[in-house]
Amino acid sequence: MKTEAFCVSGSKLASLFQVWLTEQVQAGSERLGRKPGLAVILVGDNPASLSYIKRKEKVAEKCGFKTFDHRLKSSVSEKELSALIYELNQNSEVDGILLQLPLPKGLNENHFLRMIEPAKDADGLHPFNQGLLLAGDRDVPLPCTPKGVMALIDFAEHHRRTGEEAKKWPLETADLSSKKAVVIGRSLLVGKPLAQLLLSRNATVQMLHSKSPEPGKLCAEADIVVAAVGSAELVRGDWVKQGASVIDVGINRGEDGKLLGDVEYSSCAKKAAYITPVPGGVGPMTVAMLLLNTFESFLRRELV
Ligand code: NAD
Repeated sequence: MKTEAFCVSGSKLASLFQVWLTEQVQAGSERLGRKPGLAVILVGDNPASLSYIKRKEKVAEKCGFKTFDHRLKSSVSEKELSALIYELNQNSEVDGILLQLPLPKGLNENHFLRMIEPAKDADGLHPFNQGLLLAGDRDVPLPCTPKGVMALIDFAEHHRRTGEEAKKWPLETADLSSKKAVVIGRSLLVGKPLAQLLLSRNATVQMLHSKSPEPGKLCAEADIVVAAVGSAELVRGDWVKQGASVIDVGINRGEDGKLLGDVEYSSCAKKAAYITPVPGGVGPMTVAMLLLNTFESFLRRELV
């Protein structure tokens, strides 16, 4: 008899990751004589952004990072923001720079993201790094959410293979040769880089977007479905193949203020073998990968 899907907890995986990272940071800090540094820039007072950066800084400090917190008024001029990014690019104590999005109206996000030194691009969103990702280079800062999604897929595949939950980080990298993967959403932040990462693991990848006909039919053929749309509970049980893995990136607010994913959990969990929850799925792994990008930049700078 089919039982409910295994809930792939990003919170649990992020805890395993943090144990590993804390040890690595301690060893690296002793070797280099300083802590890895993460600089966070928040422009304006968007409450959701404020709560995101507080969470990121808290986890960073818990794992042994030094954080540099920069809060700017929404009235900040382009010149002032540029000067701050320039200064952080030059600061030898800073290994990763996070510019929290969205920026207030009037400030061009792409322009400022491109000002960040690619080697310090904690979010992996600089076109230089995205280009290297497309070229097949993995030793660069990768976009955090897709990197976190791949870790969740590895977590699920470990369980599928062994019947047991992985107990420590790093996870074994799953070969997805036999898997058909559907990515719903084609943003630069999630969908497009994720498709590249899935391809690099040999998955057969199909991308769906707002103009794709019959998304339900295409999803129902997939072994792995990743929903990154921003449309509450778009993916329902009849879109999911029996035994599939379903990763829910979406964050939406229901009418009652409740947090909802892009996946209708109750119906999809009846068909899937593995499914991530919202909250507690992709979110904690996105934060984890921001720290991993910064730590990897710290280690790369040891080599130069
Ligand atoms: P986006 O708005 O940039 O892109 C959404 C994509 O979905 C577009 O490519 C669009 O073509 C596609 N789309 C829209 N309607 C569709 C439909 N009906 N069917 C199929 N495709 C459709 O969004 P984004 O930045 O990629 O974020 C997507 C969601 O993921 C949002 O809810 C966002 O809040 C969430 N998100 C979560 C995290 C996290 O850490 N958990 C990180 C990033 C984004």
